Amino acid sequence: MAFLVFADRHEQIYDHPTLEMGGASGDSWVRVPDEELIPIPEGTRLFTMPGAHPVSYRGAFKPVKAVSRRRAVAVAAFLPPGYMRSHLPAVLYPDPSVAPYLPLWAYTAVGWRDGQFVAAAVQVDPMDHQEPGQYDDRTLLPFIQKRLAEQPTNRLLHQLKRCATEYHCLCAKNGFYRRWEAPLPVAFTCNADCVGCISLQTEGLVPASHERVTMAPTLEELCAMALPHLAEAEEAIVSFGQGCEGEPLLQEALIEASIERLRAQTDRGTIHLNTNGSLPRVVERLCQAGLDSIRVSLNSTQPDAYAAYYRPKGYSFTHVVESIRTAKACGRYTSINLLVFPGVSDREEEVEGLLRLVAETGLELIQMKNLNIDPRRYLASLPPPRGRAIGMRELLRTIRREAPQVDIGYFNRPKEHFGRALSAALSF
Ligand code: SF4
Repeated sequence: MAFLVFADRHEQIYDHPTLEMGGASGDSWVRVPDEELIPIPEGTRLFTMPGAHPVSYRGAFKPVKAVSRRRAVAVAAFLPPGYMRSHLPAVLYPDPSVAPYLPLWAYTAVGWRDGQFVAAAVQVDPMDHQEPGQYDDRTLLPFIQKRLAEQPTNRLLHQLKRCATEYHCLCAKNGFYRRWEAPLPVAFTCNADCVGCISLQTEGLVPASHERVTMAPTLEELCAMALPHLAEAEEAIVSFGQGCEGEPLLQEALIEASIERLRAQTDRGTIHLNTNGSLPRVVERLCQAGLDSIRVSLNSTQPDAYAAYYRPKGYSFTHVVESIRTAKACGRYTSINLLVFPGVSDREEEVEGLLRLVAETGLELIQMKNLNIDPRRYLASLPPPRGRAIGMRELLRTIRREAPQVDIGYFNRPKEHFGRALSAALSF
């Protein structure tokens, strides 16, 4: 059994000597099975959840308002890339009206067992490209200086310097190291208004994690960054559609021209697009231009829950499915970025919808991405839940059982790995 973890008002974190930790699935408190807890991976961060008390279990669920006359504040873990959370923290807000929404992170149940912190999580991708040990800013800074000295007026490189050093975007860092996946942000507008958009928060309830880019690079700036990366980097990927931008399909002409120019000069590497999939006709054009792979994001396979979260303008969930189908029909490596959330993504109608989507489109990879948002805010934005939640680990097992041809993961794949089931090395 794992013990409750809590904080005092000075953010000092403690483990409770007797009470079991609680977890949550949607808005229900649940026990976290022992086998679903893992020692927190390197790179995990612990957060306090101001305004919320933790909830423990001892025969019944019970909010813990104070310990030894100290006010008890809930604590959550934020996992590094490659891990999917299975449970939310179990919390109680005594007065939700005075507790502002939390910033855009994926809050995960955390406890204490055998002298270490444990989190309700499962590793879903064996690729090690985003492990903390791969990044050391002392070695990064000379690369940034070198690349900027080579192209001092390239505004895209200056943007990526900001992404690498202020936002600590690992893809931006890779761009300077010239290895693996590097970003090509081009879009300063979007045709959606996601509740949890990390580049623009229109309601002003929480800060966006990044400032959305305000300009598109020129074709020359784009290719000057992307071409040496494609030509030289190990397992090279250049990808449109990043956390600091809007929707890249709205930059159709620039992306199409850059793909054609890059492919006229090298066949090496993977040209990839992360997108909301709103414009199937544009997806088809970019595939015809030479795009290698695509990843379409969605929070739900239910049109009403999709619309409630994405708040799309001028398109619908039908277009998203059509984009996935189109990319696959063009022979491109096709994945979805499933924004997963315990108690929502594992509901029966979601699981059935996901399996149907896989069968209808032939997509090859499901990336399980923890949705970064205050759980209260996400649940309030969705239609009332339908169906039973089967559990996040059971969701993974169901995909593996019912759609064994689909890979499960977290990261984009370089073309060296297309067709390979990397997740086969993992047990869920
Ligand atoms: S589609 Fe992407 S850029 Fe557009 S609002 Fe949603 S998260 Fe933000």
